[in-house]
Amino acid sequence: MNLKFETLQLHAGQVKDTLTGARAVPIYQTASYTFKDTDHGARLFNLEEKGNIYTRIGNPTTEVLEDRIAALEGGVGGLAVASGSAAITYALLTIARSGDEIVSAKGIYGGSYNFLSNTIEDFGIKTRFFETSDLKTLEDAITSKSKVIFIETLENPTGQIVDLDAISKVAKKHGLPLVVDNTFGTPYLIKPIEHGANIVVHSATKFLGGHGTTIAGVIVDGGNFNWKDDKFESFNIPDSGYNNLVYSDLGEQAFIVKARVRLLRDTGAALSPFNAFLILQGIETLSLRVERHVENSKKVAQYLNSHPEVDWITHPEFTTKEQKQLAHKYYKKGVGSIFTLGLHGGKERAKRFIENLEIFSHLANVADAKSLIIHPASTTHGQLNDEQLKAAGIKPNMIRISVGLENIDDLIADLENAIKRSR
Ligand SMILES: *Cc1c(COP(=O)(O)O)cnc(C)c1O
Repeated sequence: MNLKFETLQLHAGQVKDTLTGARAVPIYQTASYTFKDTDHGARLFNLEEKGNIYTRIGNPTTEVLEDRIAALEGGVGGLAVASGSAAITYALLTIARSGDEIVSAKGIYGGSYNFLSNTIEDFGIKTRFFETSDLKTLEDAITSKSKVIFIETLENPTGQIVDLDAISKVAKKHGLPLVVDNTFGTPYLIKPIEHGANIVVHSATKFLGGHGTTIAGVIVDGGNFNWKDDKFESFNIPDSGYNNLVYSDLGEQAFIVKARVRLLRDTGAALSPFNAFLILQGIETLSLRVERHVENSKKVAQYLNSHPEVDWITHPEFTTKEQKQLAHKYYKKGVGSIFTLGLHGGKERAKRFIENLEIFSHLANVADAKSLIIHPASTTHGQLNDEQLKAAGIKPNMIRISVGLENIDDLIADLENAIKRSR
């Protein structure tokens, strides 16, 4: 059956519990699983039979989450891990090794930018950044050492739309896999694999969980990249640490199996079964929440855009003609609910405005059911120097807003009050 999104978000990945009849996904809060006998144990370890061994590498509750998000994104397999940051790290390190280069968009989540511009260098991997709105900068950043291209669907914090078809075309031309962070987009609004992405990653902490309760990450494999290419040596030589498996022999499962049995097994950022359960609870209402997030944020953007004391906003419907065109091409159901704004009066005004809001929570998170606000230059992007801030497009007076599910009239009244009081 070719089921639709709303049905998949409630059912995909769950098999009927014949033992107890449990309707909800049970939480298998266990570290390990008994073998039927020593031969069974040996078969599991020798990869001759599929089954549960130890929750660091697999758990039945977590597996439902992995299969559900893979179904929603249109991929062939998923891997859930302890955070979005772990998902990005594992996705990229499954592909790139010491001596290789990563090509990444500049306008990405501050934590990802920091990882790529600093931490990953300690592993001998260099990142070259490019501007998603200028494909020449992408071509310029690709060298013979490039192994992977990394972008976000809607850039953090601005919410600017990335032209996925154009970038995946360049990736294909150079034989490079395209990894897309779809945290801000959500599979309800956009499915990157349909636009040529090979791997999708999420901070499930955000829209998927949806209630600001749980840190989690997922990786989805599109199963649509040819890892047999010699450029990807680690996929094509026997892995002496794992039964001499040659990952590319696994066909469309090559990437996601390698991510699980190399990085997750050996470095261990496993998701707890309880947290997998909480993310599954969130996913059950994903489409409904995202619809309201989008509707509220469009109204908030309309209000801010026409306010005389608002200097600028970056909601794609209200910026450039190009952004508006991309919105209509890719985001038929709306363009997410995170964007930035600047008030007349600079950095100090921005701080006063944030401090005078009562419904919007002042904190470091996005895509909670509740409305959130933050000043990126002093927080999420606070580790970046002036040059990096400029490169990442972070202005000193920039305020990032994540519009939640409260009543729209209350949200606008709250913004109105804070604008007045911050004068
Ligand atoms: C929050 C976020 C991350 C990091 O995810 P965590 O779950 O906080 O580790 C990565 N990418 C984007 C776009 C994010 O918003």
